Amino acid sequence: MGTAHSFVCSQCGEKHSDLPDLAFNAPYHYSELNETERKRAKLSADFCEIDQDRFVRGVLPITIRDYDAETFSFGVWVSLSAENFERYKALFKEEDPQEPPYFGWLCNHINGYPDTLSLKTNVVLQPYPSRPHIHLESTDHPLAKAQREGIMMDELMAVLHTHGAFDGG
Ligand SMILES: [Zn+2]
Repeated sequence: MGTAHSFVCSQCGEKHSDLPDLAFNAPYHYSELNETERKRAKLSADFCEIDQDRFVRGVLPITIRDYDAETFSFGVWVSLSAENFERYKALFKEEDPQEPPYFGWLCNHINGYPDTLSLKTNVVLQPYPSRPHIHLESTDHPLAKAQREGIMMDELMAVLHTHGAFDGG
């Protein structure tokens, strides 16, 4: 995150010295499976397979307008076509992946926004070891607007507190 300045949070009044991460360890679809069903699925840090469905983890960057234009990134999962999933796997360690964006459906519920599940995205591969960047389709959805225009720290803090991102440390 670079510069280590702290700020007083408008949500809880505490001083936070760093932005926490907010990342999902799996697509929502995986978290919904019971133990038996999970035996049919595969989940790693970057890839998930559930029956015919294919998911990859990426980062959804948003500029914080009043915080030195730093970027906050949500760690989220998207579903890809089986073909693009295999291409990404093959290119995973590529340092200069020359790929057109892949279409992906957002596969997590980000609290603090109207439902984010199944928002349309473009998935842009990044040089290894960075995860792909997720760009939301430019719609009126508040998260898409936030990504397009940036957000204010107050709004981001509200979202992070909704997720308990500052709890336990
Ligand atoms: Zn706070």
